[in-house]
Amino acid sequence: MAWTESAGKYHHSGSRQPEGLSIVDQLGKIGYKPEDIEIVVFTHLHWDHIYYMDRFTKAVFYAHETEYQFALNPIPLYYKSYEHPKLYENAEEKIVRPFEGIPIKTIRGETEIVKGVRVFETPGHSPGHQSVEVDTKDGSYICCGDSIFILDNIRPVPEIAYDLTPPGRYADIVSTWKSIELQKKRAARPDLILPCHEKNLLERIKETPLLVFCIIQTR
Ligand SMILES: [Zn+2]
Repeated sequence: MAWTESAGKYHHSGSRQPEGLSIVDQLGKIGYKPEDIEIVVFTHLHWDHIYYMDRFTKAVFYAHETEYQFALNPIPLYYKSYEHPKLYENAEEKIVRPFEGIPIKTIRGETEIVKGVRVFETPGHSPGHQSVEVDTKDGSYICCGDSIFILDNIRPVPEIAYDLTPPGRYADIVSTWKSIELQKKRAARPDLILPCHEKNLLERIKETPLLVFCIIQTR
């Protein structure tokens, strides 16, 4: 996400990026600089998932085709989510979308990015949301972005026969629901699902800062 000053000014007041938690700082903790990164895959293009793109000078960026088109031309309800320039036309200071002028490769459907890393479509939170599945020695993790907002969303609500707990924020609830069901089925264990807004991940990342990527030859 953006640094606190920008986040607080252009998004919900009180949005903040705690010290040391920017993507650049987090990479530094595991010994990488943004310019070391060759591939960046976006789950979606909301402002709080795409900041610091200009620091990843050697990276190829991937996003879903539908998401990129919507990010360029969203309905006004989503201008803030994508930091659309129209919202800031009369502002003294012009806000520049993080992807402005940076090429993004668009993809659709289930796509192998490199061997052992796949994306698959999980729309609903945003029109072209996709999740990233990474094979590791502990199993295949699903980096589900905001398609599953927090882990509570995968819990059923038996008294009303819900097979999950729907999130409060979505562009389309039917696709959101189906995307959560799909990922619940696809993940071998619930702890392999990594939602971006799950606070417990901040604790887990202290013990496991890096998913050890491994190519499973038998796949
Ligand atoms: Zn989002």
